Amino acid sequence: MRFFTKHTWSEWMRRGYNTLFQPELTTCQSCRKNAAMPLQPNHLRQQAASFDARGQVLKLWLCAACIGTIPWIQAVGCKSCGRAIRCTDCERHPLHAWGLAGNRSVVRYDNHMKHWLSQYKFYGLNVYGEIIGRMMSVSYPMLFTGFMNSLGRCTSNGGRSGWSSNCMLPDIITFVPTSEQRLYERGFNQAEQLAQIMGRTWNRPVVPLLMREQETAKQSMQTRSGRERNIANVFQLRSDVGYVGHLETNKCGHVIKGMGQHGKQNDQPDGIVMLLVDDVYTTGSTLRACAREIASLQSVIRRPLYVLSYTWARA
Ligand SMILES: [Zn+2]
Ligand SMILES: [Zn+2]
Repeated sequence: MRFFTKHTWSEWMRRGYNTLFQPELTTCQSCRKNAAMPLQPNHLRQQAASFDARGQVLKLWLCAACIGTIPWIQAVGCKSCGRAIRCTDCERHPLHAWGLAGNRSVVRYDNHMKHWLSQYKFYGLNVYGEIIGRMMSVSYPMLFTGFMNSLGRCTSNGGRSGWSSNCMLPDIITFVPTSEQRLYERGFNQAEQLAQIMGRTWNRPVVPLLMREQETAKQSMQTRSGRERNIANVFQLRSDVGYVGHLETNKCGHVIKGMGQHGKQNDQPDGIVMLLVDDVYTTGSTLRACAREIASLQSVIRRPLYVLSYTWARA
């Protein structure tokens, strides 16, 4: 009867006491120090009401000190790509010319964030995928309200604090694809996993729209212009995407002042808002190339299509 040894029993008592009367000491996923972190499932359901409150929803995995070091993008310097500072990339290559209405990112890509992403991508630590996906879903309302307003979407929150209407969410979520070879090596596509986390959180469909044709020579070894040239022709629409035109848009039923329901003119088909997800926005060449392909879908489905991209980090 080893199970009922004195040691085991006292261990059970200690755990029971800790659970009932004090927060459990848990290891922070980032610094690996033990910290008192509340293990309440409520944290998973919470939505942040403000930029400052976003860290609260990460308490399940991270200690307060590590949450405090996250370089959130609080103010947008470039309205087009969402970089924290003014950028020349968008002056050289305006996103709208590629069918991309705009981009937003959650954090600046500093060394700390690079470390998190490499733990996830190259060491397969899935907890970082959960953290990154959670950061994206909780930051979305704060980053995308302006875009959704400009597309005629209603952004009232229906009285729910810290969360916006369903209408404010994208109709469809898609992601930057990875090549078969990379998928085989790594076992997963991080952009797809992040898209799936948001799809589950918001109850929105995640659809694969693109294929990546070939593996480019290692990107970091190339010049900037060589990289741009290569990536521009790597993505292709999948052949089975016609069904997108038949998908329901995310209606809330609100009528927007001066316009019809959902902000559309009468007898105009509903526009589809597509969220294109990736992990990092570096030069934007990958997202621009993907957006151009997705925008070509518009002629097939005969409905207005708005592509917005969303990455976790902005380099
Ligand atoms: Zn920590
Ligand atoms: Zn920009």
